[in-house]
Amino acid sequence: MWTHPAGSRSGRDTRAWPLLLLLVIAILIPTVCVVWLLQDAARSQQAVARQMLSEAHRSQIALFRQALDAWWDKRLAAIDEMTVRSLPSAVFASIVRDGLADSALIHDTARRLSYPAPQSPPGPDAAADNAPWNRARALEDTDAAGAAAAYAKLGSDPILGARALQGQVRSLLRLGRREVAVGIVLEQFAGKRHDRAADLQGRLIAADLELLALRLIGNPEDARFQKLTARLIGRMDDYDNPAMSAPQRRFLASELRAVGVKDAPALDDAERVAARWVEQGPDTRLIVLRSPSGRVDLLLRRATVIRQIGEFAKSQRFPQGVQAAAQLRDSAAPGPILTETPAGPRFPDLRLVLWSAEADPAAALAERRTLAYFWTGLLVIALTAALALLVARAIQRQIRLARLKTDLVATVSHELKTPVASVCLLVDTLLDDARPDPAKTREYLELIARENARLSRMIDNFLTFSRMERDRKKFDFREVRPEAIVRAAVDAIGERFAAPQGCPVEVDIEPALPVIFADESGLVTTLTNLLDNAWKYSGDEKRITVRAYRERACVCFAVEDNGIGIPARETQKIFRRFYQVDQRLARERGGCGLGLSIVDFIVRAHGGSVKVASQVGRGSTFTVALPVAVQGVGA
Ligand code: ADP
Repeated sequence: MWTHPAGSRSGRDTRAWPLLLLLVIAILIPTVCVVWLLQDAARSQQAVARQMLSEAHRSQIALFRQALDAWWDKRLAAIDEMTVRSLPSAVFASIVRDGLADSALIHDTARRLSYPAPQSPPGPDAAADNAPWNRARALEDTDAAGAAAAYAKLGSDPILGARALQGQVRSLLRLGRREVAVGIVLEQFAGKRHDRAADLQGRLIAADLELLALRLIGNPEDARFQKLTARLIGRMDDYDNPAMSAPQRRFLASELRAVGVKDAPALDDAERVAARWVEQGPDTRLIVLRSPSGRVDLLLRRATVIRQIGEFAKSQRFPQGVQAAAQLRDSAAPGPILTETPAGPRFPDLRLVLWSAEADPAAALAERRTLAYFWTGLLVIALTAALALLVARAIQRQIRLARLKTDLVATVSHELKTPVASVCLLVDTLLDDARPDPAKTREYLELIARENARLSRMIDNFLTFSRMERDRKKFDFREVRPEAIVRAAVDAIGERFAAPQGCPVEVDIEPALPVIFADESGLVTTLTNLLDNAWKYSGDEKRITVRAYRERACVCFAVEDNGIGIPARETQKIFRRFYQVDQRLARERGGCGLGLSIVDFIVRAHGGSVKVASQVGRGSTFTVALPVAVQGVGA
């Protein structure tokens, strides 16, 4: 008995596994390679990221140092310019007030210290030849009241007047008239008149008298005390007044503290730092920055420099997470240090550091890069898989076609052999008989005609199948009346049903069926195949009915027989090509296992469906449902 060359009766392709294996290998090998590459890349990425970042940081800190140097150059040049326009004391005040330094030493062009300068030695007395003045001075030791009166008459000149007021106050105190003396200081020095009047020691008279008055009042709660304190501190803060010397400022500040004044003048600290430097020599705890002309030495505490550099760093642009700072050589960094450099000759014991606000920027960068690699790898794997699938599908199709070709050739030659052999035998028998009996001749010719019909049906099916498998089957979609299809199929199959053991086919067409958009010859082939099967797989008492009716949006064609039926588990398989439930029976009845696969193909091309309802021993009903308004989808 001939077995189907496809290898399995079920039509399933058992030889697909080598292809599957190939496919798996084609995907697996690149995937493994990509994964390995990814892992390797991730490892080296960290090292590369570290290297790259450290190079970047080195150049950033070099740039930062350059910018810092330029910033200081600019500041010092600007300070130099200030010395040309302003008084040394004003330059001192503006440096400290602007936060450029904790203190400063201002020199003249010959590099002599001009602020804070030591107290100038007493100058010649301009009033030495002034007779009223000398009279008042002489009276002071013998007649305080007379002296006070004499001094009171001297008050017209701003400088001599101030000295006279000083003498008057002195004389009044001798007389014990404290309140009058305080009143004179309060009133006479309220305006600007005596603002610049200095005594022979170069001290501002107004300031000295105000301090004296404060001592006389003695009570910080007294309104006059507060008024005088404010006025005196105002004088000390007025650095545009050259009459107030640095030593006097310091003296006044310490005296103010002694009389219970809590608010120190704004620049008191700067004054003391500068004085200490001048009196005790350089202080190694301070950093000195000299202006280009050499006229100004800025005195800075290290903490001030560190703060200033920190503020400057804030104005610089660093990559995210990176910050710059200045630190003492041995101090701890605020975070993980990325790179560092000496702060330069200006700040020998400071270093500049770049530090990271992130825990480990190299790891963060590597992670970002690894993630990018991961997605690229995933994309490559997905593309490889898609490509491999496409290639596999193409190869599979080629293999299937090649196998079908072989199967078809084998089936065709096998199936054609039997009818051709019986036709040959019948013809030979007729030819051998010199005088053939007419009845026998007729019988033989009818047999030959039946074999011929079977042959031509088979060949039709083979051709349709072959075209279908090569995707060459063309459908010609037109509007067709369902009843025309039924009639054509019944006519085509008529000859077989007219055979001696044949049966009349019952036709039941619902009136007024809608036209369908279909390929007429395709549908006739469908119905013919179903009718042919109904005939083949029924016993001697055949009852075959073909119906056409409408069901919802479909026109249905049903072919019902009272034949052997199909077991439930086989009803899906019978639509596979070359599948036969009972090969021996099918072969006996002239089947080749292609009829239903052709039916299925044509119906699908029409956007319809075919189903079977069957009971073993009772019969089967094959129903084809086609949508009414469908535009054919077949090629
Ligand atoms: P064949 O040419 O062998 O009939 P088909 O594709 O037309 O091939 O049918 C596949 C198989 O389905 C048949 O071999 C048969 O076993 C079963 N079959 C088809 N139609 C019927 C039917 N009307 N009654 C019983 N079995 C059927």
